[in-house]
Amino acid sequence: MIIDCHGHYTTAPRQHEAWRAQQIDAYKAGKSPPPRPGITDDEIRESIEGGQLKVQRERGTDLTIFSPRAAGMGHHLGDAVTSEAWASACNELIHRVCSLFPENFIGVAMLPQSARVSPRNCIPEIGRCVNDYGFVGVNLNPDPSGGHWQDPPLSDRYWYPVYEKMVEYDTPAMIHVSASCNPTHHTTGAHYLNGDTAGFNQLMNSSVFKDFPTIKFIIPHGGGAVPYHWGRYRGLAQDAKLGLLSDLMLKNVFFDTCVYHLPGQELLARVIPADNILFASEMIGAVRGIDPETGHHYDDTKRYIDQLPLSAEDKAKIFEGNARRVYGRLSETIKKQSAR
Ligand SMILES: [Zn+2]
Repeated sequence: MIIDCHGHYTTAPRQHEAWRAQQIDAYKAGKSPPPRPGITDDEIRESIEGGQLKVQRERGTDLTIFSPRAAGMGHHLGDAVTSEAWASACNELIHRVCSLFPENFIGVAMLPQSARVSPRNCIPEIGRCVNDYGFVGVNLNPDPSGGHWQDPPLSDRYWYPVYEKMVEYDTPAMIHVSASCNPTHHTTGAHYLNGDTAGFNQLMNSSVFKDFPTIKFIIPHGGGAVPYHWGRYRGLAQDAKLGLLSDLMLKNVFFDTCVYHLPGQELLARVIPADNILFASEMIGAVRGIDPETGHHYDDTKRYIDQLPLSAEDKAKIFEGNARRVYGRLSETIKKQSAR
């Protein structure tokens, strides 16, 4: 089985995001938002069959761990109330996708975060998504201010209410920022990779893994700058007397393969042990074009991994085994959803 651990519903029916714009306009005008629009099962089917499912079939992958559109989370917009209503609408839509296509999609939750609002308010939504929807993880935004970094680092106890729930439910978090509202940081070109890199570095300088020995984080987009600069982080850990970086991080931190060229994948697989790499493409996401050097989509990441000089055993871990291990509820959810 080939499990893509990083997909977003980027093709959601248009009225979904149109409502979000109305909701934020209403917030700015001090009014109540209009009722949420109706979305039919057929509209959802169409958006998936012509989008993510089509790409799964073309590329020979089986299952996508699926969450709301990341740049659309917009935690810097509105307030805690708008974030809660929006997260709830987005997660419900993901649940409907997973119910219509139970063999192809398993959900991950977006959280109702807001800048400088305690993440404690995310707990009810985590509970609903795990218990009622059968989701297997969450996306945790380390910078709900959208590029201004106004909240404490992930090392701070500020985040512990979310970590406690992650451990209780055996659900990992992908550290994933949303859109940037800071013009110096392009959303997918800088802010995403900065978020990945900063998130790793914040966790490295923390006692999170001492306090939560079984917690698991996935750093997306190939780990941002981390694998390329592994020597720097090893040296920083050594200088700070934190011990070996691999001992410090690799029981709890995993990297996805959203790296859009072969040399980058080669580096990732050389630096990071196969046990810590999870297959992912973020298809129909940030980079949708075709690479003229290869004639294939940049985000068709399976092609790169197929070419890596790894054993069949290691590739099986990357494509399937590690996802089942890191997402503690995944195997059971796969069984449940395919029995439908
Ligand atoms: Zn993403």
